[in-house]
Amino acid sequence: MRIIILGAGSIIPTKDRFGSSILLETSLGGILLDIGPGTIEKLRRIRLNLEMINKILITHFHIDHVSDLLPFLKMRALIRKTRGKFKDIIDIYGPKGLNDFIEDLLVKNRFLSYLMDLDVLRDVQLHECWDGVVAAEKEFEIRSVPVEHFNGVAYRIRVDGVDLVYSGDTMPDERLIRMAENVDILIHECSCPSGRKLGKHTTDEELVEIVSMIKPKIIIAVHLYPEMEERIRSLKESLKKASGGLVYVPSDMDVIEV
Ligand SMILES: [Zn+2]
Ligand SMILES: [Zn+2]
Repeated sequence: MRIIILGAGSIIPTKDRFGSSILLETSLGGILLDIGPGTIEKLRRIRLNLEMINKILITHFHIDHVSDLLPFLKMRALIRKTRGKFKDIIDIYGPKGLNDFIEDLLVKNRFLSYLMDLDVLRDVQLHECWDGVVAAEKEFEIRSVPVEHFNGVAYRIRVDGVDLVYSGDTMPDERLIRMAENVDILIHECSCPSGRKLGKHTTDEELVEIVSMIKPKIIIAVHLYPEMEERIRSLKESLKKASGGLVYVPSDMDVIEV
């Protein structure tokens, strides 16, 4: 599996980081974890065949995690119409309220009527997630738990023999820590330095504590606000000490081979 960090930052861009989106390249196709601003542009830059993406996991409805969803759906429908591609269903997972969110976006805002004969949702399957297993196949599983962040969920994904947890945005949360037991890879937000806590987010010191409990083989810290940039070196050192595993504090477009 390859993990391509499309957006490792927040809604405030820095030189190396912006938005929230991570692409998992797996034997089952591409899985997007969040689809924040700039996602499609970054997929274009890596020349990804967009037909590859057949699952999108949305952690919550903040705009830095979902803003490229509408253009993605239109792009997909238009390619299908003009080139006859995208025959497969795309599965979109999101927290409770996903159905209403899509309805509000596409129907109430009239985007759907302006798209005329593009049947954007024809091959889109929506899955509302909260607490429990939401997809289970032989070699593939998705589980979610609610986390302390504006109707957010965190996901645990098992694919290609690897177990991965993605926090989305969250305060330190016991439910996530329990779900992440024995996980191989933890992708966790680290929005701000301790002493400069922002909203319902996790600080660098809090992440070190979380990692010392979970001890994943690989920890990937994402969702860095600009305030975190000067702490990256110390964050890496502390995470290394706490986990004993591999530590990444990636920039946008970094690729991690697993
Ligand atoms: Zn958020
Ligand atoms: Zn966010």
